Amino acid sequence: MANLIEKLPTIRGRYTPDAPLGAKGWFRCGGTAEVLFKPADFEDLQHFMAKCPSDIPLHVFGALSNSIIRDGGLKGVTIRLGRDFSNITIEGNEVTAGALALDANVATQAAEHGVGGLEFLSGIPGSIGGAVKMNAGCYGTEIKDIMVEAMALDRKGEIHLFKPQDLDMTYRHTSLADDMIVVSAILKGVTEDADTVKKRIHDIKEKREQSQPIREKTGGSTFANPSAQELTKAGLLDTMKVWQLIDQVRGRGLEVGGAQMSIKHCNFMLNTGNATASDLENLGEEIRNRVFEKYGISLRWEIRRVGEFKVD
Ligand SMILES: Cc1cc2nc3c(=O)[nH]c(=O)nc-3n(C[C@H](O)[C@H](O)[C@H](O)COP(=O)(O)OP(=O)(O)OC[C@H]3O[C@@H](n4cnc5c(N)ncnc54)[C@H](O)[C@@H]3O)c2cc1C
Repeated sequence: MANLIEKLPTIRGRYTPDAPLGAKGWFRCGGTAEVLFKPADFEDLQHFMAKCPSDIPLHVFGALSNSIIRDGGLKGVTIRLGRDFSNITIEGNEVTAGALALDANVATQAAEHGVGGLEFLSGIPGSIGGAVKMNAGCYGTEIKDIMVEAMALDRKGEIHLFKPQDLDMTYRHTSLADDMIVVSAILKGVTEDADTVKKRIHDIKEKREQSQPIREKTGGSTFANPSAQELTKAGLLDTMKVWQLIDQVRGRGLEVGGAQMSIKHCNFMLNTGNATASDLENLGEEIRNRVFEKYGISLRWEIRRVGEFKVD
């Protein structure tokens, strides 16, 4: 570890060796980052990217609300953006948000300025960087529908501006390379009455509270819904949702170690207290095996799983 830091450029921010990572995420379990880098600001990040040797693996996370960090930890450098990346500015109906700005804060601030159309973000507990990477969405709207442009840095520290059509943004998927770091995004809403927008945010929050285990240690939807084509091929109605398939294979409430498929919403996986990252992943794989055996459908993980397995 000390060796890795010696190979890294001098920065104004901070390097922390063997830093807790999984434990900082929504699942509250999993491994550490070999080195965690918190850049002081945009220029510091850009300098780091330009000077970091290209053979050192780089990772970046936002709110860690969609990620399992395997128990053996993450090799290389993990970038956690800081306060300099969480600004939100609003001009007319355009909202510019730093990559670390929380989706919910972006929705709320937009509403306060009478900008509608971003309310769906209030139900997603991640950051704007994570939302761009995952093309996050709910209730019929995705980030691609409101994104004007995202700014990202590549491994040489060069700036790239991406429009949604540059990133092949489809259901919970983008083609953004894993070592591209999103630093900000411009989102566009519509001018509306502030109280009407706030009311819609309130309604979304209530709906979530009723239908999802949002106060638990979870990572949101574990698997993406299969496509209509996959469902039809399996002889199923093309409108079926993944939670229905999980129910059909008796996945609701299923447990592996401290991990459980939520009883309230069976596509949400929970750490019930003492789960390891491998309990979570093994539970997910058990569900995938059962669905594959019964329907021939390979469920696609929506939750990102990264890092090394722990060898005892
Ligand atoms: C209770 C709950 C409800 C949820 N509901 C929804 C929902 O309705 N709709 C939905 O789409 N998702 C939902 N999610 C999942 C999650 O909140 C989203 O996927 C969110 O966009 C992830 O953002 P994050 O900052 O937490 O990403 P992280 O978990 O930190 O990272 C996820 C991925 O994004 C990448 N990433 C993060 N930041 C950056 C960056 N700055 N630059 C480049 N890549 C980056 C990471 O490398 C990783 O691959 C839910 C999660 C929970 C816990």
